[in-house]
Amino acid sequence: MSEIPFSTVKPGSSLNGYVRLELDAPFDLPYTVVKGEKPGPMLVVTAGIHGAEYASIAAAVSIARIPASEISGTLVVLPIVCMPAYLARSIYSNPVDGKNLNRQFPGDFEGTFSQQLAAWITENAIQPASAYIDLHGGDMIEALEPFTIYPEQHPESLALAQAFGISLLVAAAPGGTTTSAARASNIPSILAEAGGNGLWSKEDVNLLEHGVRRAMQHLGMLEGNPEPVACTELTKFAWLRSEIAGLWYPKQRLGQVRKGQDLGVITDPFGKVLQSVVAPIDGTILFSVTSLAIGYDDPLYGIGA
Ligand SMILES: [Zn+2]
Repeated sequence: MSEIPFSTVKPGSSLNGYVRLELDAPFDLPYTVVKGEKPGPMLVVTAGIHGAEYASIAAAVSIARIPASEISGTLVVLPIVCMPAYLARSIYSNPVDGKNLNRQFPGDFEGTFSQQLAAWITENAIQPASAYIDLHGGDMIEALEPFTIYPEQHPESLALAQAFGISLLVAAAPGGTTTSAARASNIPSILAEAGGNGLWSKEDVNLLEHGVRRAMQHLGMLEGNPEPVACTELTKFAWLRSEIAGLWYPKQRLGQVRKGQDLGVITDPFGKVLQSVVAPIDGTILFSVTSLAIGYDDPLYGIGA
């Protein structure tokens, strides 16, 4: 299978191109390699693991345009990892095998499309990296408060998360994710989330792009030191889900909630309430699902404290 041509890029130059991935659904994966004159670490940035998280994709496209003359080491950017999901504007999963790509890592070349793609990314993008950043956001039907997830009990990843500069931090080690694959190879990694609802506001794109720049300062790839940001570690979570399919009337998108607060109702097509949703803890809404259509066992809110 083809590879990203890291080694053929001349110091002091950038290369854009596509790698042909001969997977179950073959496609051309866009990449940029920016190689500084001076040697240094290799930072790999991915976006579009989920195809409709647009602020992350726009931020990746933007950071890839950094001039090679400004950096030490190598920046590798894969702005749209799951092209089939991007082209289909697909929510959560990709249309080829219906799987959530960020639950398939480290992947399997003998598996389905998502597992093959995860295996290719693990081998060709994550494992060669000195540090790894995976950009995400709220999906097409989600409002989201920016936060950064890092693999728990991995101090180098925590330092990278603090440098990135989003103030809400979540230590987690869920299996199957990009950052769990990086953690297995002891590579510092974070998953940063901003934006949502199919939008890519300047504010959210800048937050992610500046986060990558700050991480590059932290890694010694850019001049200067990132301004310290006071970070809050969230340790308690409530993930609220639907108990029945219906019409979802959320009462709050984002912000603070108190235990017992009414967060919305699911009704039938005639307005009869089928489920009332109440905040089980005091906390900050990390994401909320904003679509009227709601299925059985769909996420509704993520609350952190
Ligand atoms: Zn995502």
